[in-house]
Amino acid sequence: MAESMRGMKRSHRCTEVTRADIGQTVTVMGWVQKRRNLGNLIFIDLRDRSGLLQIVFDSADVGDAGMEKAASLRSEYVIAVSGIVEKRGGAVNENLATGELEIQAKELRILSEAQTPPFPIEENIQTRDELRLKYRYLDLRRPNLQRNLMLRSHVATEVRKFMAQEGFLEIETPVLVKSTPEGARDYLVPSRIHPGSFYALPQSPQLFKQLLMCSGYDRYFQIAKCFRDEDLRADRQPEFTQIDMELSFVDIDDVIDVNERLLAHIFKEAIGVEVPLPIPRMTWQEAMDRYGSDKPDTRFGMELHDVSEIVKDCGFGVFTGALAAGGSVRGINAKGQGGMPRKKIDALVEFAKGYGAKGLAYLCVNPDGSYKSSFAKFLTEEELHALVEAMEGEPGDLLLFAADRTKLVWEVLGALRLEIAKNLGLLKKDEYKFLWITEFPLFEWSDEQNRLVAMHHPFTMPMEEDLDRLDTDPASVRAKAYDITLNGNEIGGGSVRIFQDDIQEKMFEILGFTKEEAQERFGFLLDAFKYGVPPHAGLAYGLDRLIMLMAQEDSIREVIAFPKVKDASCLMSGAPDVVDEKQLEELSIAVRAEQEEA
Ligand code: ASP
Repeated sequence: MAESMRGMKRSHRCTEVTRADIGQTVTVMGWVQKRRNLGNLIFIDLRDRSGLLQIVFDSADVGDAGMEKAASLRSEYVIAVSGIVEKRGGAVNENLATGELEIQAKELRILSEAQTPPFPIEENIQTRDELRLKYRYLDLRRPNLQRNLMLRSHVATEVRKFMAQEGFLEIETPVLVKSTPEGARDYLVPSRIHPGSFYALPQSPQLFKQLLMCSGYDRYFQIAKCFRDEDLRADRQPEFTQIDMELSFVDIDDVIDVNERLLAHIFKEAIGVEVPLPIPRMTWQEAMDRYGSDKPDTRFGMELHDVSEIVKDCGFGVFTGALAAGGSVRGINAKGQGGMPRKKIDALVEFAKGYGAKGLAYLCVNPDGSYKSSFAKFLTEEELHALVEAMEGEPGDLLLFAADRTKLVWEVLGALRLEIAKNLGLLKKDEYKFLWITEFPLFEWSDEQNRLVAMHHPFTMPMEEDLDRLDTDPASVRAKAYDITLNGNEIGGGSVRIFQDDIQEKMFEILGFTKEEAQERFGFLLDAFKYGVPPHAGLAYGLDRLIMLMAQEDSIREVIAFPKVKDASCLMSGAPDVVDEKQLEELSIAVRAEQEEA
Protein backbone atom coordinates (compact mmCIF):
# COMPACT_ATOMS: atom_id res chain seq x y z
CA MET A 1 0.00 0.00 0.00
CA ALA A 2 1.35 3.39 -0.92
CA GLU A 3 2.19 5.76 1.90
CA SER A 4 2.41 9.51 1.71
CA MET A 5 5.70 11.37 2.02
CA ARG A 6 3.95 14.04 4.06
CA GLY A 7 6.21 15.41 6.77
CA MET A 8 9.34 13.99 5.10
CA LYS A 9 11.55 16.06 2.84
CA ARG A 10 14.39 14.67 0.78
CA SER A 11 17.65 16.16 2.03
CA HIS A 12 20.15 14.46 -0.31
CA ARG A 13 20.38 12.39 -3.44
CA CYS A 14 21.97 9.01 -2.71
CA THR A 15 25.54 9.88 -3.60
CA GLU A 16 25.32 13.44 -2.34
CA VAL A 17 25.68 12.05 1.17
CA THR A 18 29.34 12.47 2.13
CA ARG A 19 31.70 11.72 4.96
CA ALA A 20 31.04 15.23 6.30
CA ASP A 21 27.46 14.11 7.01
CA ILE A 22 28.50 11.31 9.39
CA GLY A 23 26.35 11.49 12.51
CA GLN A 24 23.71 13.66 10.81
CA THR A 25 20.14 12.66 10.08
CA VAL A 26 19.34 12.63 6.37
CA THR A 27 16.33 11.72 4.26
CA VAL A 28 16.80 9.93 0.94
CA MET A 29 14.23 8.73 -1.57
CA GLY A 30 14.49 6.41 -4.53
CA TRP A 31 14.12 2.90 -5.89
CA VAL A 32 15.10 -0.34 -4.18
CA GLN A 33 17.90 -1.90 -6.15
CA LYS A 34 18.43 -4.92 -3.92
CA ARG A 35 17.53 -6.26 -0.48
CA ARG A 36 19.55 -8.68 1.69
CA ASN A 37 18.19 -10.19 4.90
CA LEU A 38 20.66 -11.12 7.63
CA GLY A 39 18.21 -11.94 10.40
CA ASN A 40 18.30 -8.93 12.72
CA LEU A 41 19.85 -6.75 9.99
CA ILE A 42 18.35 -5.95 6.58
CA PHE A 43 20.40 -4.18 3.91
CA ILE A 44 18.90 -2.19 1.06
CA ASP A 45 20.74 -0.68 -1.88
CA LEU A 46 18.79 2.46 -2.68
CA ARG A 47 19.08 3.94 -6.17
CA ASP A 48 18.35 7.34 -7.65
CA ARG A 49 19.83 9.11 -10.67
CA SER A 50 22.97 9.94 -8.72
CA GLY A 51 23.80 6.34 -7.87
CA LEU A 52 23.48 3.85 -5.01
CA LEU A 53 23.51 4.15 -1.22
CA GLN A 54 23.35 1.37 1.37
CA ILE A 55 20.62 1.51 4.02
CA VAL A 56 20.69 -0.70 7.13
CA PHE A 57 17.64 -1.67 9.14
CA ASP A 58 18.49 -2.87 12.62
CA SER A 59 15.77 -4.37 14.78
CA ALA A 60 17.21 -2.45 17.72
CA ASP A 61 16.40 0.81 15.87
CA VAL A 62 13.18 0.09 14.02
CA GLY A 63 11.57 -2.70 16.07
CA ASP A 64 9.75 -5.76 14.81
CA ALA A 65 7.19 -3.81 12.81
CA GLY A 66 9.96 -1.84 11.08
CA MET A 67 11.86 -5.04 10.27
CA GLU A 68 8.74 -6.63 8.86
CA LYS A 69 8.16 -3.63 6.64
CA ALA A 70 11.78 -3.60 5.47
CA ALA A 71 11.55 -7.32 4.76
CA SER A 72 8.60 -6.68 2.48
CA LEU A 73 10.63 -4.42 0.16
CA ARG A 74 11.22 -5.71 -3.34
CA SER A 75 13.17 -4.45 -6.32
CA GLU A 76 11.92 -1.16 -7.76
CA TYR A 77 9.70 -0.25 -4.81
CA VAL A 78 9.88 3.50 -4.29
CA ILE A 79 10.74 4.33 -0.70
CA ALA A 80 11.67 7.21 1.59
CA VAL A 81 14.13 6.61 4.41
CA SER A 82 15.28 8.86 7.23
CA GLY A 83 18.26 7.81 9.24
CA ILE A 84 21.74 8.57 10.50
CA VAL A 85 24.80 8.60 8.28
CA GLU A 86 27.46 6.21 9.54
CA LYS A 87 30.75 4.83 8.47
CA ARG A 88 30.23 1.33 7.17
CA GLY A 89 30.74 -1.49 9.59
CA GLY A 90 31.64 -4.21 7.13
CA ALA A 91 33.73 -4.18 3.98
CA VAL A 92 33.96 -0.95 2.01
CA ASN A 93 32.26 -1.34 -1.37
CA GLU A 94 34.64 0.14 -3.93
CA ASN A 95 31.91 0.06 -6.58
CA LEU A 96 29.73 2.62 -4.86
CA ALA A 97 30.49 6.32 -4.77
CA THR A 98 29.17 6.14 -1.20
CA GLY A 99 30.96 2.82 -0.63
CA GLU A 100 32.26 3.67 2.82
CA LEU A 101 29.00 5.09 4.14
CA GLU A 102 25.60 3.74 5.08
CA ILE A 103 22.38 5.04 6.57
CA GLN A 104 21.12 3.57 9.84
CA ALA A 105 17.40 3.71 9.09
CA LYS A 106 15.05 5.24 11.64
CA GLU A 107 11.98 5.64 9.47
CA LEU A 108 10.84 3.89 6.30
CA ARG A 109 7.93 4.73 4.07
CA ILE A 110 6.87 2.72 1.06
CA LEU A 111 5.80 5.36 -1.45
CA SER A 112 4.87 2.85 -4.12
CA GLU A 113 5.16 -0.85 -4.78
CA ALA A 114 6.39 -2.29 -8.07
CA GLN A 115 5.79 -5.30 -10.24
CA THR A 116 8.81 -7.33 -11.20
CA PRO A 117 10.30 -5.50 -14.19
CA PRO A 118 10.65 -7.46 -17.48
CA PHE A 119 14.43 -7.09 -17.29
CA PRO A 120 16.83 -6.21 -14.48
CA ILE A 121 17.50 -2.52 -13.93
CA GLU A 122 21.27 -2.79 -14.19
CA GLU A 123 24.21 -1.62 -16.22
CA ASN A 124 25.08 -3.65 -19.36
CA ILE A 125 22.13 -5.99 -19.49
CA GLN A 126 21.80 -8.50 -22.33
CA THR A 127 18.19 -7.74 -23.20
CA ARG A 128 16.68 -7.62 -26.67
CA ASP A 129 16.39 -4.07 -28.03
CA GLU A 130 12.67 -4.55 -28.72
CA LEU A 131 11.98 -5.31 -25.08
CA ARG A 132 14.13 -2.43 -23.88
CA LEU A 133 12.30 -0.01 -26.19
CA LYS A 134 8.83 -1.29 -25.37
CA TYR A 135 9.60 -0.61 -21.70
CA ARG A 136 11.74 2.42 -22.39
CA TYR A 137 10.68 4.07 -19.11
CA LEU A 138 12.32 1.16 -17.27
CA ASP A 139 15.29 1.02 -19.61
CA LEU A 140 15.82 4.71 -18.85
CA ARG A 141 16.27 3.84 -15.17
CA ARG A 142 19.48 1.99 -15.99
CA PRO A 143 22.63 3.83 -14.94
CA ASN A 144 24.20 3.87 -18.42
CA LEU A 145 21.21 5.62 -19.97
CA GLN A 146 20.91 7.99 -17.03
CA ARG A 147 24.56 8.93 -17.43
CA ASN A 148 24.09 9.46 -21.17
CA LEU A 149 21.07 11.73 -20.75
CA MET A 150 22.78 13.67 -17.98
CA LEU A 151 25.78 14.13 -20.28
CA ARG A 152 23.46 15.30 -23.04
CA SER A 153 21.89 17.86 -20.74
CA HIS A 154 25.31 19.00 -19.56
CA VAL A 155 26.50 19.49 -23.15
CA ALA A 156 23.38 21.48 -24.04
CA THR A 157 24.00 23.71 -21.03
CA GLU A 158 27.64 24.26 -21.98
CA VAL A 159 26.67 25.03 -25.58
CA ARG A 160 24.26 27.70 -24.34
CA LYS A 161 26.84 29.18 -21.99
CA PHE A 162 29.53 29.34 -24.65
CA MET A 163 27.26 30.69 -27.36
CA ALA A 164 25.92 33.40 -25.09
CA GLN A 165 29.48 34.46 -24.23
CA GLU A 166 30.28 34.68 -27.94
CA GLY A 167 27.34 36.96 -28.64
CA PHE A 168 24.94 34.41 -30.17
CA LEU A 169 21.20 34.86 -29.65
CA GLU A 170 19.06 31.79 -29.14
CA ILE A 171 16.06 32.21 -31.44
CA GLU A 172 13.36 29.65 -32.15
CA THR A 173 12.28 29.04 -35.72
CA PRO A 174 8.92 27.48 -36.64
CA VAL A 175 8.23 23.77 -36.73
CA LEU A 176 5.26 24.10 -39.08
CA VAL A 177 6.84 25.34 -42.28
CA LYS A 178 6.39 25.38 -46.04
CA SER A 179 7.51 22.27 -47.86
CA THR A 180 10.66 23.07 -49.87
CA PRO A 181 11.89 19.61 -50.75
CA GLU A 182 15.52 19.52 -51.83
CA GLY A 183 17.34 16.63 -50.35
CA ALA A 184 15.35 14.33 -48.12
CA ARG A 185 11.59 13.78 -48.06
CA ASP A 186 9.54 16.10 -45.86
CA TYR A 187 7.18 15.02 -43.11
CA LEU A 188 3.85 16.63 -43.90
CA VAL A 189 1.19 17.93 -41.57
CA PRO A 190 -2.29 18.52 -43.01
CA SER A 191 -3.90 21.88 -42.43
CA ARG A 192 -7.47 21.83 -41.08
CA ILE A 193 -8.10 25.47 -41.90
CA HIS A 194 -6.78 25.17 -45.44
CA PRO A 195 -8.18 21.88 -46.69
CA GLY A 196 -5.83 20.17 -49.10
CA SER A 197 -2.82 22.22 -47.92
CA PHE A 198 0.05 20.90 -45.87
CA TYR A 199 2.79 22.17 -43.64
CA ALA A 200 6.14 20.41 -43.60
CA LEU A 201 8.21 19.72 -40.52
CA PRO A 202 11.62 21.37 -40.98
CA GLN A 203 14.57 19.29 -42.21
CA SER A 204 16.69 22.09 -40.78
CA PRO A 205 16.11 25.76 -39.91
CA GLN A 206 18.21 26.71 -42.96
CA LEU A 207 16.00 29.32 -44.63
CA PHE A 208 14.87 30.90 -41.37
CA LYS A 209 18.36 31.30 -40.02
CA GLN A 210 19.41 33.00 -43.23
CA LEU A 211 16.39 35.29 -42.92
CA LEU A 212 17.46 36.14 -39.37
CA MET A 213 20.77 37.32 -40.79
CA CYS A 214 18.85 39.52 -43.26
CA SER A 215 16.97 40.88 -40.26
CA GLY A 216 20.18 41.91 -38.56
CA TYR A 217 20.43 39.42 -35.68
CA ASP A 218 24.09 38.93 -36.55
CA ARG A 219 24.70 35.70 -34.61
CA TYR A 220 21.95 33.10 -34.10
CA PHE A 221 21.93 29.64 -32.61
CA GLN A 222 19.33 27.09 -31.67
CA ILE A 223 19.19 23.55 -30.39
CA ALA A 224 16.61 22.52 -32.94
CA LYS A 225 14.52 19.45 -33.62
CA CYS A 226 14.65 18.47 -37.30
CA PHE A 227 12.74 15.86 -39.28
CA ARG A 228 13.56 13.78 -42.36
CA ASP A 229 11.24 11.16 -43.76
CA GLU A 230 13.87 8.80 -45.09
CA ASP A 231 14.07 5.05 -45.11
CA LEU A 232 16.11 4.56 -42.02
CA ARG A 233 19.29 2.87 -43.04
CA ALA A 234 22.03 2.58 -40.53
CA ASP A 235 21.83 4.59 -37.38
CA ARG A 236 19.37 7.38 -38.19
CA GLN A 237 16.26 8.71 -36.55
CA PRO A 238 13.32 10.39 -38.31
CA GLU A 239 13.53 13.21 -35.76
CA PHE A 240 16.90 14.36 -34.57
CA THR A 241 18.50 17.37 -32.96
CA GLN A 242 20.89 19.93 -34.38
CA ILE A 243 22.97 22.59 -32.75
CA ASP A 244 22.31 25.09 -35.49
CA MET A 245 24.03 28.43 -35.99
CA GLU A 246 24.43 31.29 -38.45
CA LEU A 247 26.79 34.29 -38.39
CA SER A 248 26.91 37.57 -40.33
CA PHE A 249 29.94 39.39 -41.79
CA VAL A 250 32.13 36.29 -41.60
CA ASP A 251 34.10 33.96 -43.83
CA ILE A 252 35.19 30.34 -43.42
CA ASP A 253 37.97 31.01 -40.93
CA ASP A 254 35.64 32.87 -38.58
CA VAL A 255 33.15 30.01 -38.52
CA ILE A 256 35.91 27.48 -37.98
CA ASP A 257 37.47 29.54 -35.20
CA VAL A 258 34.34 29.89 -33.10
CA ASN A 259 33.40 26.25 -33.63
CA GLU A 260 36.79 24.92 -32.65
CA ARG A 261 36.57 26.82 -29.42
CA LEU A 262 33.00 25.59 -28.90
CA LEU A 263 34.10 21.97 -29.35
CA ALA A 264 37.09 22.41 -27.07
CA HIS A 265 34.82 23.99 -24.46
CA ILE A 266 32.19 21.24 -24.39
CA PHE A 267 34.70 18.38 -24.51
CA LYS A 268 36.63 19.89 -21.64
CA GLU A 269 33.62 20.75 -19.49
CA ALA A 270 31.47 17.69 -20.15
CA ILE A 271 33.98 14.84 -20.42
CA GLY A 272 37.32 16.34 -19.41
CA VAL A 273 38.94 15.83 -22.82
CA GLU A 274 41.40 18.45 -24.13
CA VAL A 275 40.92 19.13 -27.84
CA PRO A 276 44.20 20.41 -29.27
CA LEU A 277 43.57 23.53 -31.39
CA PRO A 278 43.70 24.31 -34.20
CA ILE A 279 41.91 21.22 -35.49
CA PRO A 280 43.65 19.99 -38.64
CA ARG A 281 42.04 20.72 -42.02
CA MET A 282 42.04 18.64 -45.18
CA THR A 283 40.48 19.33 -48.56
CA TRP A 284 37.79 16.98 -49.80
CA GLN A 285 40.05 15.87 -52.65
CA GLU A 286 42.87 14.95 -50.32
CA ALA A 287 40.49 13.12 -47.98
CA MET A 288 39.13 11.04 -50.83
CA ASP A 289 42.58 10.30 -52.24
CA ARG A 290 44.10 9.35 -48.91
CA TYR A 291 41.16 7.75 -47.10
CA GLY A 292 38.48 7.09 -49.72
CA SER A 293 36.05 9.00 -47.54
CA ASP A 294 34.88 12.55 -46.89
CA LYS A 295 34.79 11.72 -43.19
CA PRO A 296 38.07 9.93 -42.68
CA ASP A 297 38.86 8.17 -39.45
CA THR A 298 42.38 9.39 -38.74
CA ARG A 299 42.89 7.37 -35.56
CA PHE A 300 44.88 4.96 -37.75
CA GLY A 301 46.74 5.06 -41.08
CA MET A 302 46.24 2.38 -43.76
CA GLU A 303 45.92 5.12 -46.37
CA LEU A 304 44.96 4.54 -50.00
CA HIS A 305 47.61 4.50 -52.73
CA ASP A 306 46.81 5.18 -56.38
CA VAL A 307 48.77 2.59 -58.39
CA SER A 308 47.02 3.15 -61.73
CA GLU A 309 50.20 4.46 -63.34
CA ILE A 310 52.19 1.37 -62.33
CA VAL A 311 49.75 -1.25 -63.58
CA LYS A 312 48.49 0.55 -66.67
CA ASP A 313 50.27 -1.76 -69.11
CA CYS A 314 50.22 -4.96 -67.07
CA GLY A 315 48.67 -8.21 -68.21
CA PHE A 316 45.89 -8.27 -65.62
CA GLY A 317 42.62 -7.50 -67.39
CA VAL A 318 40.80 -6.49 -64.21
CA PHE A 319 43.26 -3.63 -63.71
CA THR A 320 43.67 -2.52 -67.31
CA GLY A 321 39.93 -2.89 -67.98
CA ALA A 322 39.06 -0.53 -65.15
CA LEU A 323 41.67 1.98 -66.34
CA ALA A 324 40.46 1.78 -69.95
CA ALA A 325 36.96 2.60 -68.72
CA GLY A 326 38.28 5.77 -67.06
CA GLY A 327 38.54 4.32 -63.56
CA SER A 328 41.51 3.72 -61.34
CA VAL A 329 43.38 1.04 -59.41
CA ARG A 330 44.07 1.78 -55.77
CA GLY A 331 45.16 -0.22 -52.81
CA ILE A 332 45.64 -0.28 -49.07
CA ASN A 333 48.39 -1.90 -47.05
CA ALA A 334 47.22 -3.85 -44.02
CA LYS A 335 50.53 -3.76 -42.18
CA GLY A 336 51.64 -7.06 -40.71
CA GLN A 337 48.52 -8.89 -41.92
CA GLY A 338 50.28 -10.94 -44.64
CA GLY A 339 49.67 -14.10 -42.66
CA MET A 340 45.89 -13.59 -42.66
CA PRO A 341 44.20 -16.94 -43.32
CA ARG A 342 42.61 -17.38 -46.71
CA LYS A 343 39.14 -17.60 -45.13
CA LYS A 344 39.51 -14.14 -43.61
CA ILE A 345 40.77 -12.65 -46.86
CA ASP A 346 37.76 -14.18 -48.60
CA ALA A 347 35.53 -12.51 -46.00
CA LEU A 348 37.13 -9.16 -46.88
CA VAL A 349 36.46 -9.83 -50.57
CA GLU A 350 32.81 -10.51 -49.75
CA PHE A 351 32.73 -7.34 -47.66
CA ALA A 352 34.04 -5.35 -50.65
CA LYS A 353 31.43 -6.94 -52.91
CA GLY A 354 28.78 -5.70 -50.51
CA TYR A 355 29.91 -2.20 -51.50
CA GLY A 356 29.53 -3.00 -55.19
CA ALA A 357 33.11 -4.07 -55.98
CA LYS A 358 33.41 -6.94 -58.45
CA GLY A 359 36.19 -8.32 -56.30
CA LEU A 360 39.41 -7.50 -54.50
CA ALA A 361 42.90 -8.38 -55.66
CA TYR A 362 45.30 -9.28 -52.89
CA LEU A 363 48.99 -9.75 -52.46
CA CYS A 364 50.72 -11.05 -49.33
CA VAL A 365 54.39 -10.22 -48.97
CA ASN A 366 55.79 -13.39 -47.37
CA PRO A 367 58.41 -13.12 -44.65
CA ASP A 368 61.04 -14.39 -47.14
CA GLY A 369 60.09 -11.63 -49.60
CA SER A 370 58.20 -13.91 -52.00
CA TYR A 371 54.56 -13.17 -52.85
CA LYS A 372 51.31 -15.03 -52.41
CA SER A 373 48.77 -13.34 -54.60
CA SER A 374 45.56 -13.68 -56.56
CA PHE A 375 47.00 -11.85 -59.58
CA ALA A 376 50.83 -11.92 -59.39
CA LYS A 377 51.04 -14.33 -62.32
CA PHE A 378 49.71 -11.64 -64.67
CA LEU A 379 52.45 -9.15 -63.76
CA THR A 380 56.13 -9.12 -64.61
CA GLU A 381 58.71 -9.30 -61.85
CA GLU A 382 59.46 -5.56 -62.34
CA GLU A 383 55.81 -4.57 -62.25
CA LEU A 384 55.25 -6.53 -59.05
CA HIS A 385 58.28 -5.00 -57.48
CA ALA A 386 57.21 -1.46 -58.41
CA LEU A 387 53.70 -2.16 -57.15
CA VAL A 388 54.87 -3.43 -53.76
CA GLU A 389 57.24 -0.52 -53.46
CA ALA A 390 54.50 2.01 -54.26
CA MET A 391 52.40 0.39 -51.54
CA GLU A 392 55.29 0.62 -49.08
CA GLY A 393 54.92 -3.15 -48.77
CA GLU A 394 57.33 -5.00 -46.50
CA PRO A 395 57.58 -8.66 -45.61
CA GLY A 396 54.51 -9.64 -43.59
CA ASP A 397 52.15 -7.07 -45.18
CA LEU A 398 48.82 -7.71 -46.87
CA LEU A 399 48.07 -5.49 -49.90
CA LEU A 400 44.48 -5.21 -51.11
CA PHE A 401 43.50 -3.61 -54.42
CA ALA A 402 40.27 -2.44 -55.99
CA ALA A 403 39.91 -1.53 -59.66
CA ASP A 404 36.79 0.22 -60.89
CA ARG A 405 35.21 3.65 -61.31
CA THR A 406 37.20 5.87 -58.96
CA LYS A 407 34.15 6.79 -56.92
CA LEU A 408 33.48 3.12 -56.24
CA VAL A 409 37.15 2.37 -55.55
CA TRP A 410 37.19 5.13 -52.93
CA GLU A 411 34.03 3.84 -51.35
CA VAL A 412 35.18 0.21 -51.25
CA LEU A 413 38.66 0.88 -49.91
CA GLY A 414 37.39 3.56 -47.54
CA ALA A 415 35.01 1.03 -45.99
CA LEU A 416 37.57 -1.78 -46.12
CA ARG A 417 40.20 0.09 -44.14
CA LEU A 418 37.61 0.75 -41.45
CA GLU A 419 36.52 -2.88 -41.42
CA ILE A 420 40.10 -4.10 -41.05
CA ALA A 421 40.85 -1.53 -38.35
CA LYS A 422 37.74 -2.64 -36.50
CA ASN A 423 38.73 -6.31 -36.76
CA LEU A 424 42.20 -5.47 -35.50
CA GLY A 425 40.85 -3.47 -32.58
CA LEU A 426 42.53 -0.24 -33.74
CA LEU A 427 39.50 1.95 -33.04
CA LYS A 428 39.84 3.29 -29.51
CA LYS A 429 36.67 5.00 -28.37
CA ASP A 430 38.46 7.24 -25.89
CA GLU A 431 40.72 8.70 -28.57
CA TYR A 432 39.16 11.76 -30.23
CA LYS A 433 40.49 12.77 -33.65
CA PHE A 434 38.82 15.82 -35.12
CA LEU A 435 39.31 16.90 -38.71
CA TRP A 436 37.81 19.67 -40.85
CA ILE A 437 37.03 18.74 -44.44
CA THR A 438 37.00 21.76 -46.76
CA GLU A 439 36.62 22.59 -50.46
CA PHE A 440 33.83 20.14 -51.14
CA PRO A 441 32.57 19.88 -54.71
CA LEU A 442 29.64 22.28 -55.14
CA PHE A 443 27.63 19.66 -57.03
CA GLU A 444 27.41 15.94 -57.25
CA TRP A 445 25.87 13.83 -59.96
CA SER A 446 22.66 12.07 -59.01
CA ASP A 447 22.15 8.85 -60.98
CA GLU A 448 18.62 8.72 -59.65
CA GLN A 449 17.62 12.17 -60.90
CA ASN A 450 20.02 12.16 -63.82
CA ARG A 451 21.20 15.69 -63.03
CA LEU A 452 23.59 17.63 -60.87
CA VAL A 453 22.34 18.18 -57.34
CA ALA A 454 23.80 20.44 -54.67
CA MET A 455 26.23 18.51 -52.51
CA HIS A 456 25.43 20.67 -49.48
CA HIS A 457 22.43 22.81 -50.41
CA PRO A 458 21.53 25.34 -53.12
CA PHE A 459 22.56 28.35 -50.99
CA THR A 460 26.19 27.34 -50.70
CA MET A 461 28.72 29.78 -52.14
CA PRO A 462 31.12 28.53 -54.82
CA MET A 463 34.81 29.19 -54.20
CA GLU A 464 35.69 32.56 -55.71
CA GLU A 465 38.61 31.06 -57.65
CA ASP A 466 36.22 28.62 -59.38
CA LEU A 467 33.42 31.04 -60.26
CA ASP A 468 34.48 31.32 -63.89
CA ARG A 469 33.90 27.58 -64.38
CA LEU A 470 30.29 27.72 -63.17
CA ASP A 471 29.11 27.93 -66.80
CA THR A 472 31.67 25.81 -68.53
CA ASP A 473 32.44 23.00 -66.10
CA PRO A 474 30.14 23.16 -63.08
CA ALA A 475 31.06 19.66 -61.89
CA SER A 476 34.61 20.88 -61.20
CA VAL A 477 33.56 23.86 -59.07
CA ARG A 478 34.43 23.68 -55.38
CA ALA A 479 32.21 25.06 -52.62
CA LYS A 480 32.88 27.20 -49.59
CA ALA A 481 31.54 24.30 -47.56
CA TYR A 482 33.08 22.54 -44.62
CA ASP A 483 32.35 19.52 -42.46
CA ILE A 484 33.68 18.82 -39.02
CA THR A 485 34.42 15.12 -38.56
CA LEU A 486 35.29 13.08 -35.52
CA ASN A 487 36.66 9.54 -35.62
CA GLY A 488 35.15 8.84 -39.03
CA ASN A 489 31.80 10.50 -38.31
CA GLU A 490 30.49 13.72 -39.79
CA ILE A 491 29.39 15.54 -36.67
CA GLY A 492 28.61 18.85 -38.33
CA GLY A 493 28.66 20.75 -41.57
CA GLY A 494 27.94 24.10 -43.07
CA SER A 495 28.90 26.67 -45.62
CA VAL A 496 29.36 30.28 -46.58
CA ARG A 497 26.11 31.33 -48.28
CA ILE A 498 25.46 32.94 -51.59
CA PHE A 499 24.25 36.48 -51.08
CA GLN A 500 24.52 37.73 -54.66
CA ASP A 501 21.44 37.44 -56.95
CA ASP A 502 23.35 36.57 -60.06
CA ILE A 503 25.25 33.67 -58.47
CA GLN A 504 22.08 32.35 -56.83
CA GLU A 505 20.23 32.51 -60.14
CA LYS A 506 23.03 30.66 -61.88
CA MET A 507 22.98 28.06 -59.13
CA PHE A 508 19.26 27.40 -59.54
CA GLU A 509 19.71 27.23 -63.30
CA ILE A 510 22.40 24.55 -62.98
CA LEU A 511 20.27 22.65 -60.48
CA GLY A 512 17.49 22.61 -63.06
CA PHE A 513 15.03 24.97 -61.38
CA THR A 514 13.16 27.39 -63.61
CA LYS A 515 12.95 30.96 -62.34
CA GLU A 516 9.30 30.30 -61.46
CA GLU A 517 10.09 27.14 -59.53
CA ALA A 518 12.84 28.85 -57.57
CA GLN A 519 10.51 31.74 -56.80
CA GLU A 520 7.71 29.39 -55.81
CA ARG A 521 9.86 27.46 -53.34
CA PHE A 522 12.36 29.95 -52.00
CA GLY A 523 10.74 33.24 -53.03
CA PHE A 524 10.59 34.61 -49.50
CA LEU A 525 14.35 34.18 -49.09
CA LEU A 526 15.17 35.60 -52.51
CA ASP A 527 12.88 38.57 -51.85
CA ALA A 528 14.47 39.19 -48.46
CA PHE A 529 17.87 39.35 -50.13
CA LYS A 530 16.63 42.31 -52.20
CA TYR A 531 16.37 44.47 -49.09
CA GLY A 532 19.98 44.40 -47.94
CA VAL A 533 21.64 41.11 -47.05
CA PRO A 534 24.88 40.77 -45.11
CA PRO A 535 27.47 38.18 -46.12
CA HIS A 536 26.75 35.20 -43.86
CA ALA A 537 27.73 31.64 -43.13
CA GLY A 538 26.72 28.90 -40.76
CA LEU A 539 27.01 25.39 -39.54
CA ALA A 540 24.91 22.72 -37.85
CA TYR A 541 25.95 19.79 -35.66
CA GLY A 542 24.11 16.53 -35.33
CA LEU A 543 23.76 16.60 -31.54
CA ASP A 544 22.73 12.95 -31.24
CA ARG A 545 25.84 11.64 -32.97
CA LEU A 546 28.08 14.07 -31.10
CA ILE A 547 26.74 12.87 -27.74
CA MET A 548 27.00 9.26 -28.88
CA LEU A 549 30.72 9.72 -29.47
CA MET A 550 31.24 11.60 -26.23
CA ALA A 551 29.40 8.84 -24.35
CA GLN A 552 31.41 6.20 -26.24
CA GLU A 553 28.25 4.47 -27.38
CA ASP A 554 27.70 2.62 -30.66
CA SER A 555 24.21 3.87 -31.47
CA ILE A 556 22.44 7.23 -31.24
CA ARG A 557 19.52 5.36 -29.63
CA GLU A 558 21.61 5.15 -26.47
CA VAL A 559 21.64 8.94 -26.13
CA ILE A 560 18.03 9.72 -27.11
CA ALA A 561 15.41 9.37 -24.40
CA PHE A 562 12.62 8.00 -26.56
CA PRO A 563 14.02 6.87 -29.90
CA LYS A 564 12.19 5.26 -32.79
CA VAL A 565 13.13 2.01 -34.48
CA LYS A 566 14.11 1.31 -38.08
CA ASP A 567 10.58 1.49 -39.46
CA ALA A 568 10.16 4.90 -37.78
CA SER A 569 7.72 3.61 -35.19
CA CYS A 570 7.82 3.98 -31.42
CA LEU A 571 7.59 0.56 -29.77
CA MET A 572 6.51 2.08 -26.47
CA SER A 573 3.65 4.39 -27.52
CA GLY A 574 2.70 2.73 -30.77
CA ALA A 575 3.16 5.84 -32.93
CA PRO A 576 2.33 6.22 -35.77
CA ASP A 577 -1.25 5.06 -35.43
CA VAL A 578 -4.60 5.32 -37.20
CA VAL A 579 -6.79 8.24 -36.16
CA ASP A 580 -10.53 8.67 -35.78
CA GLU A 581 -12.74 9.14 -38.82
CA LYS A 582 -13.78 12.45 -37.30
CA GLN A 583 -10.20 13.73 -37.15
CA LEU A 584 -9.71 12.81 -40.80
CA GLU A 585 -12.95 14.46 -41.78
CA GLU A 586 -11.91 17.72 -40.14
CA LEU A 587 -8.74 17.59 -42.19
CA SER A 588 -10.62 16.74 -45.39
CA ILE A 589 -8.50 13.64 -45.70
CA ALA A 590 -9.56 10.30 -47.13
CA VAL A 591 -7.16 7.44 -46.56
CA ARG A 592 -6.53 5.17 -49.51
CA ALA A 593 -4.08 2.69 -48.00
CA GLU A 594 -5.54 -0.45 -46.47
CA GLN A 595 -4.74 -0.67 -42.81
CA GLU A 596 -2.11 -3.38 -42.29
CA GLU A 597 -3.14 -6.23 -40.02
CA ALA A 598 -1.26 -5.88 -36.77
N1 ASP B 1 21.39 23.33 -42.70
C1 ASP B 1 22.58 22.57 -42.92
C2 ASP B 1 22.37 21.11 -42.53
O1 ASP B 1 21.35 20.78 -41.94
C3 ASP B 1 23.73 23.09 -42.13
C4 ASP B 1 24.18 24.44 -42.59
O2 ASP B 1 24.45 24.63 -43.78
O3 ASP B 1 24.29 25.34 -41.74
O4 ASP B 1 23.21 20.29 -42.80
